[in-house]
Order: sequence, then C-alpha cells, then structure tokens
Amino acid sequence: MTKFSDLKLSPKVLKAVEEAGYETPTPIQEGAIPPALEGRDVLGIAQTGTGKTASFTLPMITLLARGRARARMPRSLVLCPTRELAAQVAENFDTYAKHVKLTKALLIGGVSFKEQDQLIDRGVDVLIATPGRLLDHFERGKLLLTGVQIMVVDEADRMLDMGFIPDIERIFGLVPFTRQTLFFSATMAPEIERITNTFLSNPARIEVARQATASATIEQKLVMFKPSRRDRAASEKTAFLRALIDGEGDACTNAIIFCNRKTDVDIVAKSLQKHGYNAQPIHGDLEQSRRMEVLQGFRDGTIKFLCASDVAARGLDIPNVSHVINYDVPGHAEDYIHRIGRTGRAGRKGKTLMICEPRDEKNLDAVERLIEGKIDRIDPPGQASKSDAPREEKPREDKPRDEAPREAKPKGRKPAAKAEPKPEARPDPAPQPETPQAPAASEPRQSGSSRGSASKRSGGRDKGVVGMGDHLPGFIAKSFEERLD
Ligand code: AMP
Repeated sequence: MTKFSDLKLSPKVLKAVEEAGYETPTPIQEGAIPPALEGRDVLGIAQTGTGKTASFTLPMITLLARGRARARMPRSLVLCPTRELAAQVAENFDTYAKHVKLTKALLIGGVSFKEQDQLIDRGVDVLIATPGRLLDHFERGKLLLTGVQIMVVDEADRMLDMGFIPDIERIFGLVPFTRQTLFFSATMAPEIERITNTFLSNPARIEVARQATASATIEQKLVMFKPSRRDRAASEKTAFLRALIDGEGDACTNAIIFCNRKTDVDIVAKSLQKHGYNAQPIHGDLEQSRRMEVLQGFRDGTIKFLCASDVAARGLDIPNVSHVINYDVPGHAEDYIHRIGRTGRAGRKGKTLMICEPRDEKNLDAVERLIEGKIDRIDPPGQASKSDAPREEKPREDKPRDEAPREAKPKGRKPAAKAEPKPEARPDPAPQPETPQAPAASEPRQSGSSRGSASKRSGGRDKGVVGMGDHLPGFIAKSFEERLD
C-alpha cells in the first residue's frame, strides 16, 4: 500500500498531513500527486469527498516552497465555482501549509476589493478565486496573471453548469502558456473534454470511482408521497417530511434536506422551525456572511437540519452528516449523486431518504438509470400498510390551528397527513428552480462579462426558462448551437 512518505512530498507537508490524521493517500491523491510533483498537467476525474483538494494542494505547497511571490503577480491560481468552495480550498491550504511560509489570498465576492487589493499588492503565492471576481480584479488593473506557474481548475463540471466556461477560457488565455495545469471535474461532459483538449498538455489522467458506486456505506431509501388533495400538497408534504425525520429517531443526528427550488428551501425550513425543529435554510439568495454562518452552525452542531438548494450545497465538505433527505427527486439525475454524497463520507455510515411524488417519476427513472439500480422503496412513515400515499385523513377540527412548537414533544412516529394543523400555502405560485443563470453561491460579475447564457450551456442542463412551470415545450429547451455546429 502506498504511503504518503512514498509520494515525494516535502517533509514539512508530510508533517502537516500526519497532523491532519491522514494515514494513507486516497486513490486520487495516489494518482495525482506524483505527476503533479513532476510538473505534469493532471486531469483528475473525481468528486468532493474523494480527497481531491489535497491531491492538488499538497503538491502545490511542495512545488511553491521555493521561490518568492512578487507584487501583484500570484505564483499560482486556484479557480473554484463558488465562494464556499473557494473558502474551503483556502482552509485546506491553511491546514497543509502550516509549516511552510506561503502567502495566500482569497478573491471572492462579499469581501471588499480594497482588502483583497492590499493582499495582492504585497504578493501572494497562492491566489484562490472564483472566475468572476478574478476577472473583475484583472480588469481593474490590480492583478497580473503572467507570473502564474500552476493553475488549478476545481469542479469544472460545476463551472459549466453555472455558465463560467467562457470566463475560464479567458483566464487560460491570460496565464503563461508554460504554466502547469491541474484540472478537476466530477464528470467529463463534451464541453469539458473540449476544454481539456485545448488547454491541457499531455495530462496524466486519473479517474476515481464515482461516488454513487463507490460509497457502499450509504443506505438509500425511497418513499412515495401522494397528497390527498392538490391544495393540501404543500402542507401534507412538510408533515410527511417531519414524520420521516421522526421515524429515524436518534439515528438521525443531523440532516441536509435538499429541495429543487429555492422557494421550497425557505418554506421547508420555516415549517420545520414552526414545529420546533432546529432548521435553517441555505441558498444563493442569502448574504454570503449568512451562508457562512449557517454552514458553520451545521458543522459545529448548533444547527441540526440544513435545508439546502443544490447550488448552495454541492461540493461542500461537511463531515458527519447522518442523513440526506431529498425533499424532491432532483431534476438532473447527477444531482442525486452529489446530494447523497454529502453523507457517508470517509467510510462513515450514512442514510438517504428521497420523497417521490407521482409527478417525479420521470426524474426518478433518470436517477435509477444513472445509478444503475433501483432504490429501495419503503412504506410511508407511520403506515404499516403497503399503500403508496399517506393516509387520507381530514384535518382534525378539535386541534388548535396554531400548534405550539414541539420542542418538548417526544419524537414519535405519527401518521403523516394528520400531523399538519394548518395548511401552509406556497407564497410563490410559480416557484423557480435555482438556476445557474442566477448563480446562487457564485460570484455576481459586475463588469462586462463573457459568461455564457444558460442557453449556451451544453449538457442538456438548460433549466433556465422562466414562466413555463413544469411543462416546458421541448423546442424551447433546444440549443441553437446544435444547429450552428
Ligand atoms: P475533498 O474530496 O477534498 O473534499 O476531501 C474530503 C474529506 O476527506 C476532507 O474532509 C479531507 O480532510 C479528508 N481527507 C483528504 N485526504 C484524506 C486522507 N488521505 N485520509 C483521510 N481523510 C482525508
């Protein structure tokens, strides 16, 4: 078995790795570190949770240990699709570079330009940035990219989803031709393949098993939900969710609850709070500082239920998540893999529960095709029978309309449909999915952008058509590019 000490990392990096408690390199680390240390380009096909961040930070720290940064000319550049991921990479640098003198700067939105300019002015070894913010700094003339020796593109498929590929291409044109490129993506969509063919030079290609197949420690369950009446769907579904959570008992120490729509993230979080559950929402409409606060609260256990959108939560490394609950079946099958990958990390046990309404069945087919298997069906909570739907019970007239928070109530199993005392109407009659067009957790670009529109994104992920409800005529989603090619 390969040990970290076999990988030719610097002794100071090895010491930090040891102190982090890592015993052996993960497959992506074993595969990517040696060629990266040799100065080769690397194409890593791996997701978060595989240890990919260390697979590029460790060799970078080793390589950058010699030499000094010059003012406004960073020596290396790490591009991340979202602020949270950029912040997470920066944390990784702090951990692994603690015995090495390296300077770093984080260029993300929500932080003043002035502060960031000052750091860059002093000279940085490692610049970690989201593409939009980086180009904003560049366009303001505060940054020179001609000193970049190593460039990392992290989560490229995510960049594609968010329409950042034109920015990435532009940045590739601004760094020296002779730089080393370390490029990571969870999947290889044709557009990503094209970028790697254009900008990587004879890369070492390392592919690690997809999370859905790799993580045998995740127990996946599916539960059907059918509202008794359309106008009660929202309230019955939140009650159903609570019953599901209650049914898990003490095994559910915390959970991320994914919703397809930002509006549902808020609705579900509010509903849980109202019923005494310690829940908070996280999505792209929240201030950056608030998102960080919520994440920190979830990490340290002060928040138990994190209601999240895909864009805000994908790729985040939160250890010790006992449950992932899919409040809806995701519209893009690959999001299912990203969602469930938030639990069962680093060999721990995890459980996922997905709520499926009859209208979600098409999406469910796509998910099951992708994971090449059927997800275990379980009975709706509180039902011994095999019925698909929650019990159709009339709301009880004798119950007070405003039930007190259930703080003191023991968590018992209760029939789903009966638990909701007051129907919660959806405030937004036409909720919109969180689309990359309004890149939630990403950078709002201020200046003229070359960023592609949703219709330019490839991979069939054009979900940015607003106002068509769930029924989008096929021709609208069709890309013009296909015709032009
Ligand atoms: P990443 O895929 O970079 O998001 O890493 C996922 C998690 O694995 C992080 O919490 C890392 O701290 C952890 N990790 C990275 N490398 C190793 C390793 N060799 N052994 C154990 N844990 C690791």
